[in-house]
Amino acid sequence: MTAQIIDGKALSQRLRVGFRERVAVLREHGVTPGLAVILVGDNPASKVYVGNKVKACADCGVASFHHALPADASETEVLARIAQLNAAPAVHGILVQLPLPPQIDVRRVLEAIDVHKDVDGFHLYNVGGLVVGNTIFPPCTPYGVQLLLETTGIDVAGKNAVVVGASNIVGKPMALMLLQKEATVTICHAKTRDLAQHTILADILIVAAGKPGLIVPQMVKHGAIVIDVGINRLPDNRIVGDVDFEGVKQKASWITPVPGGVGPMTVTMLIENTLRSAERKGIAHDSWDAPTVTVD
Ligand code: NAP
Repeated sequence: MTAQIIDGKALSQRLRVGFRERVAVLREHGVTPGLAVILVGDNPASKVYVGNKVKACADCGVASFHHALPADASETEVLARIAQLNAAPAVHGILVQLPLPPQIDVRRVLEAIDVHKDVDGFHLYNVGGLVVGNTIFPPCTPYGVQLLLETTGIDVAGKNAVVVGASNIVGKPMALMLLQKEATVTICHAKTRDLAQHTILADILIVAAGKPGLIVPQMVKHGAIVIDVGINRLPDNRIVGDVDFEGVKQKASWITPVPGGVGPMTVTMLIENTLRSAERKGIAHDSWDAPTVTVD
């Protein structure tokens, strides 16, 4: 068996066509959706991620407001900037690029963002919403994975889903979203004994560990759907995921490439959440119904 490729880049582009139409409708209602991005310090990877987000905004007609603070900025300064953005009517989404420098308490910063502008979905309110299946903004990476899974046409309900990685931003919310779709979910992490014993049972295998080559063909069930969230830069500068793509492709039914799989979807779902926020705020009093994302 050779797996079919789940093309995140193509799906992103399809979704963005719909986004531009939604932006046009918002503008007709006098609303320009806006995303504020706060970058503290000059971490090169963070700069690239912020650059990609700003570009995606421009591509979809969303206004972006870039707030760069020095690496030695205090927590008070960051909180003051967030308070300012919480109150700014032109800003529908606020994103604080992680990681933050050590003098700043990440949790305190994330909790300061207005939950109605928390387009990354990292505020405790939105995280808690995931537990009861009713979050305002699903976190972007798992949200993107969910749409990628939908493109396979396979119903998640009743499937064995194994998530490798238990971080707050990817693994845990991913597991909750799969549970909400009625999958039987297993979460693995660095302390999991005999990882293969779990992954081999997966009908759906989602890998987000940040370890290149972690998942090899012997660990994958024939016909599994494999989603590789990992992004790792090798010493020769190549970007790879956590899955041995060439090997696993021979056993899986569907697989995401790296790059070109989950990565483009993460940025696209950030725009989706920003539009949803603008639609909730901007046209809440109209009879107009906010569209929901669909995948065709
Ligand atoms: P993270 O915070 O470092 O979490 C990694 C998780 O993987 C932890 O739960 C860790 O377990 C687990 N883990 C580490 N080694 C393992 C092993 N050998 N076996 C099983 N589990 C293991 O990372 P993250 O932020 O979730 O990101 C994970 C990867 O996804 C990274 O490569 C990151 O660059 C990538 N990423 C990609 C996107 C995208 O858009 N494509 C978005 C976000 C992240 P413990 O909890 O026990 O430490």
